[in-house]
Amino acid sequence: MPHRTADRAAENHTVIGGETTAATPNASFTTFAEQARACLPPGLALATAEDIADMVALTARLMAIRSTASRPAEVGRCADVIAAWLADNEIPCTRMEHEGVPSLLAGNPAHAAPLALLVHFDVVDGADEMFTPRIDTATGVLHGRGAIDDKYAVAMALVLCRRCLRELAARGRGAESLPLVLVITGDEETGGRNGAFRALPHIRADFCVALDGGAPGSVITREKGVIDLVLTARGKSAHGARPWLGENAVDALVRDYEALKPLFPAQYPGLHSGCPPEGAAIPAADHWHRTMNLGLLHAGTAVNQVPGEAVAHLDVRYTEHDDPQRLVADMRAAVQGELAVTRMEPLFVTDDTPWLGRLLHCAPGAAPGCAHGASDARFLTDLSMAGVVWGAEGETSQHTDREHLLIPSLVPVYEALLALAREAAETTEPQGQPHRAGA
Ligand SMILES: [Zn+2]
Ligand SMILES: [Zn+2]
Repeated sequence: MPHRTADRAAENHTVIGGETTAATPNASFTTFAEQARACLPPGLALATAEDIADMVALTARLMAIRSTASRPAEVGRCADVIAAWLADNEIPCTRMEHEGVPSLLAGNPAHAAPLALLVHFDVVDGADEMFTPRIDTATGVLHGRGAIDDKYAVAMALVLCRRCLRELAARGRGAESLPLVLVITGDEETGGRNGAFRALPHIRADFCVALDGGAPGSVITREKGVIDLVLTARGKSAHGARPWLGENAVDALVRDYEALKPLFPAQYPGLHSGCPPEGAAIPAADHWHRTMNLGLLHAGTAVNQVPGEAVAHLDVRYTEHDDPQRLVADMRAAVQGELAVTRMEPLFVTDDTPWLGRLLHCAPGAAPGCAHGASDARFLTDLSMAGVVWGAEGETSQHTDREHLLIPSLVPVYEALLALAREAAETTEPQGQPHRAGA
């Protein structure tokens, strides 16, 4: 388990003041707001329709920035644009940087509130044209990189915070009464170690919504844990013409691979291990059981040689029914070769919290669900912060060359979060001095 307090001294915090920066909203993105309005259902409250139109325009503006891990300057520029928007709207914001990755903490200036929203502005790579967002008004779809993963969510968090601040101002209250903390990070796609992992310990919240997955009808309360392993099998190299003088390492590797499969009985139901672990032996329709994927294979250098070494990279996903340490021990005991763990990530399971019921109450038709991929929400587990993964509809197009967002699906998510924030605002006392973890 990684140590959380290491390297804190290396972090760099800059409080961004209320002054307006030089960045001006690009006028071309106002057409996105007009197009988005045309996609919204009739009868929507005017303020909500305006918020969603602004949200789509801001999403498009962020999508035009190529904020991939391979372009750190663009990741920084995207953080600058978000920080400038927050400053323009007088929303308090603290910028952090770790190993060159920027994160923003925004909303309640004490970084403490009933609700937190976790979003990210980095994206995976894509073809050039994916960084030119476009709306299909006939279908109500926003196309391009970051549409659903996760720039719409950054825009939603920002616009929601602005709305809450306006409603508080009407009651004579200020940002110190905001019921929200926004955690906006720049490295989710590369593991979140310099983003969410570093930023989350600086906030306090009763409930965190990671707006990065799920769907309007599915609030994710469980995500599988991850174990990456490298299996190395050794043999004895020889000339390919005289294989009897060697031992082919591929044969040994295949034997080991076959020996591992019975440890994943729900994935390989035909096979039996000595002692079937409880809770995972029956294949479930939702595949909520541990799995193993052999994703990479290396052996040999020439067709006329007997390989002396063969290496397989394994991706294991586990559930709350598994003890990951025991699973690794069982895997080691099953093979002849060497098995090294290169990464172990905790699973994410929502703690008991009244906020889950409140969220489901605010989101008619939504039900708890589970997800097989891991996200930054896993960092909530170590912090014992209750949370869920939720968001708009992208028809599982994230990371593909057809990434898109269904614009009308923003409505139920935004309305539910607004209702939840209003409920939280009732209980939010103005916070005192900014909270500093470790201080
Ligand atoms: Zn994401
Ligand atoms: Zn992603």
